[in-house]
Amino acid sequence: MKVRPLIEAYLKGSSSDKLLEYAIGSHRPHVPRDPYTLHSTAHVYVPAGVSNEAYDEHLGEGIIQKVKDAIKKKPSPVPGKKEGEAIGKFGMSYFQAHAITGGLSNPSKMPGYATSTPAWKCQTGSILHKVEGSVCRDCYARGGMYTQPTPAVAMTARHNSLDHPHWVQAMATMINHHARTINYSGRKITPHVHFRWHDSGDIQSPQHMERIAEVARLTPDVKHWIPTKETKHLSNWLDASVRAGKKRDQVVPSNLIVRISHPKVDQRSAGIEKKFGKVRGIAFSDVSEHNVLDSLPSHLQDAEACRAPERGGHCGTCRSCWDENTGHVVYHQHIPKNITRVGKTTGTYLRKSWNQYIEKRAAGWSEKFKSSRDVPAINSKKIPVLSDEHNAVLHHIANVNVSAVKATQQRGFASKA
Ligand code: SF4
Repeated sequence: MKVRPLIEAYLKGSSSDKLLEYAIGSHRPHVPRDPYTLHSTAHVYVPAGVSNEAYDEHLGEGIIQKVKDAIKKKPSPVPGKKEGEAIGKFGMSYFQAHAITGGLSNPSKMPGYATSTPAWKCQTGSILHKVEGSVCRDCYARGGMYTQPTPAVAMTARHNSLDHPHWVQAMATMINHHARTINYSGRKITPHVHFRWHDSGDIQSPQHMERIAEVARLTPDVKHWIPTKETKHLSNWLDASVRAGKKRDQVVPSNLIVRISHPKVDQRSAGIEKKFGKVRGIAFSDVSEHNVLDSLPSHLQDAEACRAPERGGHCGTCRSCWDENTGHVVYHQHIPKNITRVGKTTGTYLRKSWNQYIEKRAAGWSEKFKSSRDVPAINSKKIPVLSDEHNAVLHHIANVNVSAVKATQQRGFASKA
């Protein structure tokens, strides 16, 4: 899709809703997306009365040049046609994997690829978001670019894909693709061997956690880092894995680090530390409102401060979050630009972003995406079955749920009797 007609329609006064639906409706997600479209959809929200400067900056050739420059610097998360259509180790092509999962994200801060789901689908996070003094109160992923149409739709599509029967193989296909050292023409390339789960979003269930663990097992050359606040799902997953015959210390795959994020700003939960502190592969993170770059507050002396803000918001050579020997990482709290604190003492916030609006719209757009998806046929016979270990854990997670329901029912009957 060309940007120019979209811009012209915008300047002629077509409503931004109409423009967006046109822009989004004309996508074919399994085909590499036109990067200009991504940016144009983000910018049709420039308010009416656009100045010439704003036009050049946000809508005209200026933005196109900027996008071209950015693409030169960072590879696209979607490969070219030849590589994208090649059938990989797990019986599907990159394009097929992309169509199943909604694709990967490519956060500029990180040294590799990532995946994100909507922050408004976080279970614990959505409760904490309403709690003054919690880490999720001013969640960065509920503001800024995360609430613009294109990222919101992509994240919703990813969320909707989590139960797809081939989701594990599809994620592994894409992650292994980016970790390759030689491309299809035999040229040496830099592998991306650090993967970040959920720069927005969180684990949805113990099954989801096990599926993530299986992706890690299928991508042994890559280091995975998953931050989470879903300690209940984590605990159920650990218990089910032990029931399936694993030692507690061997449950987390060796190339995965689960970093539990303490729920309150400048406060550690002693209960969480006690429960998970001795499990190999599990570490912690804190958020502080102190400027941790200058000095660490006394209660966080054992933590390692994230120094990305000193490097223009990039990890640079730091890989502490992926390192299980780093017990605690502390991040400086930051508030998204489009959230304005208007009454610090009363704890009320004026939210200029359209979180609730975008949630509803993104779900609708995502459905539209799904129906317009042209997923290339997958020969499921060629897709390898997942490991016995994975199936055993899933079986035990299901059993845990069934027995919990039975126990509740029995208790209910007993009390009635
Ligand atoms: S601690 Fe290091 S790896 Fe983690 S986010 Fe900060 S810069 Fe990146």
